[in-house]
Amino acid sequence: MPLRRFLAVLASLLVGTALLVAVPTEALAAPNFKAPFPCGQRWTYSHHSAEVRQALDFVRSDGGATNGTPVLASAAGTAYRFSQPSGAGNYIAIEHGGGWKTYYFHLGTYSVPNGAQVAQGQQIGTTGSTGNSSGPHIHYEQLYNGVGQTIRINGASLAPYPGSYNQKYLTSDNGCGGGGGTPFMTWGSGIRVRADAYLSSPVVGTLAGPTQVFVLCQKQGDTVTAEGYTNNWWSKLRDQNGFITNIYINHPAAQLPGVPIC
Ligand SMILES: [Zn+2]
Repeated sequence: MPLRRFLAVLASLLVGTALLVAVPTEALAAPNFKAPFPCGQRWTYSHHSAEVRQALDFVRSDGGATNGTPVLASAAGTAYRFSQPSGAGNYIAIEHGGGWKTYYFHLGTYSVPNGAQVAQGQQIGTTGSTGNSSGPHIHYEQLYNGVGQTIRINGASLAPYPGSYNQKYLTSDNGCGGGGGTPFMTWGSGIRVRADAYLSSPVVGTLAGPTQVFVLCQKQGDTVTAEGYTNNWWSKLRDQNGFITNIYINHPAAQLPGVPIC
């Protein structure tokens, strides 16, 4: 072909290559992180001089107690428990995939087992002051490939970081979940959703694999034995409009904490 035409084709091929290369970068975009504390609560944050990486410390500033308040997963992922008495105290790291990780330090208690699949907005612990801490607070970090990043919540940067509390504030929409319910992950595959909490109830849907669900309420129904567990509690799922046995809710308790009775 004429040189001119050849160069044009070559240029378009190069552009095509560049676009192809750009795709994986796009796929590694950060999760849409939400605040690490419950829906509607207002907390203030700071980054003091001795702070590690791009961390922020959060304390509650809406009149409620900081100590003992639920700490929530800011995005879905796999939660790992750690303890470092001389530093981070009891803490959880959540691996979100794509190189992204979040830290939650100084927890009073853990709310999930080590290695649990957690949903965005699911309680992973309670706020405390374990480790090297001067008082109850959440020390929170977002890391990409192990490097601390400037914290973004709902896509908005919290920079510039204030050096003390009560200068900047964040109100959480984490776990608000529009139509209500408490977020959990399911496990297992081919899980039947039934119209009511009984094995004789019609099947209204199936969960193909681990799924984030919002549990509206729970009640006792037929006793189910599966996967080495026996349980008669069932959860009503908001978006699937039916019930599954609590065996397939990824939480160790037979009756889920913080979920009302139907
Ligand atoms: Zn800190």
